[in-house]
Amino acid sequence: MKTALPKPVYARFCKQVQGHQQLDRGVADAVAHAVRIWAQDKGATHFTHWFQPQTGTTAEKHDSFLTLKSQIINGQEEIYAIDAFSGGQLLQSEPDASSFPNGGVRSTFEARGYTIWDPISPMFVRRGPHGTAVLYIPSVFISYNGEALDEKTVLLRSSEVLSSAAVKLLQTLGDYETKRVTTTLGCEQEFFLIDRGIYNLRPDLKITGRTLIGVPPPKHQQLEDHYFGAIPSRVLACIAEAEYELARIGVPVKTRHNEVAPNQFEVAPIFEEASIAVDHNLVTMEVLHQVAHRHKLKVLFHEKPFKGVNGSGKHANWSMQTDGGDNLLDPTATPETNYRFLLFLVAILDAVYKHGGLLRSSIASSSNEHRLGANEAPPAIVSAFLGEHLSEILDAIEEQRPSRDFHARADSSVVLDSTKPKAQGTTLDLNISTMPPIARDLTDRNRTSPFAFTGNKFEYRAVGSKQSPSFPVVLLNAAVSKSLECVTEALEQIKGDKDVPSEEDMLAVIRQFVTASKKIRFEGNGYSDEWVQEAEARGLPNIRSCPEAFKQLISPSSLELLIGQGILSSSEVHSRYHIQLEKYAKDLIIEGSTLAGLIKKRVLPAAFTYRKELAESINSQAVCGVEAVPEIKILKKLTADCISLQDANDKLEALVEKIDGMHGDEQGVAAGTELTVALEEVRSYSDAIEAHVGDKYWPLPKYTELLF
Ligand code: ADP
Ligand code: MG
Repeated sequence: MKTALPKPVYARFCKQVQGHQQLDRGVADAVAHAVRIWAQDKGATHFTHWFQPQTGTTAEKHDSFLTLKSQIINGQEEIYAIDAFSGGQLLQSEPDASSFPNGGVRSTFEARGYTIWDPISPMFVRRGPHGTAVLYIPSVFISYNGEALDEKTVLLRSSEVLSSAAVKLLQTLGDYETKRVTTTLGCEQEFFLIDRGIYNLRPDLKITGRTLIGVPPPKHQQLEDHYFGAIPSRVLACIAEAEYELARIGVPVKTRHNEVAPNQFEVAPIFEEASIAVDHNLVTMEVLHQVAHRHKLKVLFHEKPFKGVNGSGKHANWSMQTDGGDNLLDPTATPETNYRFLLFLVAILDAVYKHGGLLRSSIASSSNEHRLGANEAPPAIVSAFLGEHLSEILDAIEEQRPSRDFHARADSSVVLDSTKPKAQGTTLDLNISTMPPIARDLTDRNRTSPFAFTGNKFEYRAVGSKQSPSFPVVLLNAAVSKSLECVTEALEQIKGDKDVPSEEDMLAVIRQFVTASKKIRFEGNGYSDEWVQEAEARGLPNIRSCPEAFKQLISPSSLELLIGQGILSSSEVHSRYHIQLEKYAKDLIIEGSTLAGLIKKRVLPAAFTYRKELAESINSQAVCGVEAVPEIKILKKLTADCISLQDANDKLEALVEKIDGMHGDEQGVAAGTELTVALEEVRSYSDAIEAHVGDKYWPLPKYTELLF
């Protein structure tokens, strides 16, 4: 924009965007003209307001730059075609909104919806097949009455609310320089890549995103030889091409590696302002999907495509940054006296403590349910991990004693030394002369925590790989902004008429919040059974099922928070609740009918063929006077399993029909309690049969073919 716009226009644009003022029409017209020239230079013929309906993906409707102009030449009207794009067209357009989920926000006859350009997120030109190219304009999507129908509107609202709450706290601490605080976000994206030809032979994967049946192979991830291993060349070619495409549209992908499960990988970008980071995460998923196609691969974003091997997550790394460039969650070398850091930290703990249930609601889905609490991913109990050092500092403040110092030894065990009150940045000495001393982080990693402090940011690990990171961040922003207000209020009260609170004032407030939110802090193994018991004793909610989790969104405390902070209206919250619940039930109904069909049309017929061959073999051996003992054994077992499978499948089919006819809460709860169980039951018999039927009879590629 800097090179394409006249200098004064560019300056006005920056001023308006950075000052969060509305763009004036003159600027919009100039930007529209410049961006059209720029986009056409890159081959674009169309533009699209690219938006995020509540489907977890993005939506786009393409318009060409074509405009017809008429002119009177020598008394004759002549019509000719030109390319044009006005400021008005850039700012907003009006797609038909009737077929997007709205959860009852508006009736179908009020189909009008508006998409409006979000000038904070950069536009980009994406190349498609056969030389096509389209100008993408990141946009919000609202109803005729101005209600948010999308993910971005509420994310932008929540970031503004968080910013003003953070700025107020900074002002109380005497910082009048900071005018804005941005939410920063970097999403680690996990996914599986499998051969497309094999994928195409699995209707369950194609329709539901996961394998509904299948026996885990004898070797999967137990040797941990895949994690961080050499990236297979076919995969590297695919990921590198995706990275190149992403770099061309301004997405800063930085890391790539093999994940724990076979054929599982991860890419992560450099963090950005949250709304841009969400746009970039969603476009990363789309580009990976398209590029994989070109490499005859299929990318799976489902949280649990394969039973028995690790699932995929999207670790949302979240922090807050001042307009001066300070990361407010940077503990610095001496966190124990960095009161600004500690005040923001305790506000976050307070938020997670008070609204853990609400946070849980945003990560609930039929697919993520297989991952959360499945002993390989963050548990369904929301807790926060701080690491030994920060925990010690908070404990010391609470107990009103000096904090102990941390020294690292060569064996990397940590020695607590109470004679030294101040912590220093520590180093590790390896006792190898050629190696320099190693700087050690303030916190170790904890892979089992759903919400872990990792050095200078929180890593929200429970977010699902398939979902948009937007709503989890919205709820986190909402809860944290409220807690920041509480902290500010406490500081204002305690400081009286002093200009700024004293050290003792700040310590007192920190102590108050540390004590109040203590139950949410957990440093141990989040996968263990002991934690489930301890969490229960602490009174922390362990919300296992999705319908229960969705309910948290409309609990009195959540409604008070979301409506009170001005992030969602009552009708917007309730519509989101209905959309989540309906999507959940529909997902399970689709899984149910897919599985029932698969069993009837593929699994049972294969078992019957094998049984027939066994029976014929038994008969022909009997003619020769031989009793076919091994065949008889398998035949009996197979027959029993076939009967059980058929019964379970009939039950599943009937259940799908029954639940399909239900509505609302009743449907969601029935799907969550009955369908999930019926699906598992059918699977168990089918998997038992798969384990016995000869490979040449089996009608689907098995896990070994899919994963190796
Ligand atoms: P890890 O070692 O935690 O797996 P990765 O490099 O895979 O680290 O991903 C860490 C992510 O956190 C990156 O996307 C990175 O940009 C992001 N990140 C780093 N600092 C911040 C911050 N201050 N705010 C938000 N995200 C951050
Ligand atoms: Mg990582």
